[in-house]
Amino acid sequence: MKEVLDYLEKTQTTHLEELKQFLHIPSVSTDSNHKEDIRKAAQFVADYLKEAGFTRSEMQETPGHPLVYGEWMEAGKSAPTVLIYGHYDVQPPDPLDQWQSEPFAPEVREGRLFARGASDDKGQVFMHLAVLKAFLKTTGELPLNVKVCIEGEEEIGSAHLYDILQQRKEQFQADFVMISDSGMVAKDQPTILYGLKGFTGLEVTLKGPENDLHSGLYGGAVKNPAMALAQLLATMKNAEEVVTVAGFYDEVEPLSEDERVLMKEAPGEDYPTSTGAPSTISEKGYTAKEHTMARPTLEINGMYSGYQGEGTKTIIPAEATAKLTCRLVPGQDPSAIQDLLVAHLEKHVPEGVTLSITREPLSAKAYKVSPDHPLIQHAAASLTETFAKEAVFVRMGGSIPVVEWFDALYQIPVVLLGFGTPEDRLHSPNESFPVEHFHKGMQTLVHYWEKVKNMQ
Ligand SMILES: [Zn+2]
Repeated sequence: MKEVLDYLEKTQTTHLEELKQFLHIPSVSTDSNHKEDIRKAAQFVADYLKEAGFTRSEMQETPGHPLVYGEWMEAGKSAPTVLIYGHYDVQPPDPLDQWQSEPFAPEVREGRLFARGASDDKGQVFMHLAVLKAFLKTTGELPLNVKVCIEGEEEIGSAHLYDILQQRKEQFQADFVMISDSGMVAKDQPTILYGLKGFTGLEVTLKGPENDLHSGLYGGAVKNPAMALAQLLATMKNAEEVVTVAGFYDEVEPLSEDERVLMKEAPGEDYPTSTGAPSTISEKGYTAKEHTMARPTLEINGMYSGYQGEGTKTIIPAEATAKLTCRLVPGQDPSAIQDLLVAHLEKHVPEGVTLSITREPLSAKAYKVSPDHPLIQHAAASLTETFAKEAVFVRMGGSIPVVEWFDALYQIPVVLLGFGTPEDRLHSPNESFPVEHFHKGMQTLVHYWEKVKNMQ
């Protein structure tokens, strides 16, 4: 292992230059003007793997942008197989005038590499490529069997990946998945992300009279849909932030005492400072941190009805609409939760209005791997060795659909080992990544693959 680390030490400058070449390609997946650039970025990955010594490395066509598939399976049948997933496509760089340096002309300033994709996800993909190459160039082999899947459509919702994963199960089959497309809670604070929330939603509309009505002539005789909507929504959550939809919590996996300790140890956010909200709220019996990380939520994302213009307009609006979404936790099934929400709304709709509901087609299940899983414990230990600091364990309120797909289609653990920082400005102007995290991240991966090799 020492020779691999030495090699990485010696090739720091070369690797930074190679990464800059990769970042130089404007692989913006949403913009058809960049179709050729997308292919160039894919080719860069495929060539890198080939040059590193992968036995198989190719661009695979999809109905959209190609994915890069690579394979090195010489570690033997008894060695574990990892599938490394990432993406080479990036978000558009707009607004361009807000960039201090050109988004596709990478530049290091004050220890950070600035470029679109530096953190999300080309920079982190490159760390994996460089580490695999370092192993092969020094020891002639990898500590385990490796499959690589780097797609070009992540920033446009991974439009074709689910079908491909479903169709080519044999190709992608592995013992676990590794994804470096997330971040640490703070720079130099190693972080293990071991859970993500699921997601479901719907739109609810209440209709009253055929048209907006004069509030003096009809107020008192006709139900106001905006008021009816407020009354209906208010039946869904009480003042203690508990969702009052029957059955909502029935399948929720309880939060263990061990996990509560982990969450307490993880650095928290001072929400009033970071958000400007006057105070912090949380579900009764849970801290705000526990609520965001590990308890389901129900939110009104938007409400609209009636007159929105200047001054007064004395009407009873004809209808009122609200958009609702839930973030879900392990145990909860998105479509079952949607059914519960619909049943609740139907039961509680006030008299004098009619209810119509549109179900949000996008949904995802929550994902969680046990923090005690050896694959996770090895990741924490590798981070600690490299960053000289204990790793903290967190779950995240967000959702990453591809993680759920690997879980659902392959039933294998997904290790989320991200090296970004909160200052990276993903998707925004001046995206960057700390140069130091490239080096430390690569060292972490060397330690990790060695540990996983000896797991059996
Ligand atoms: Zn990403």
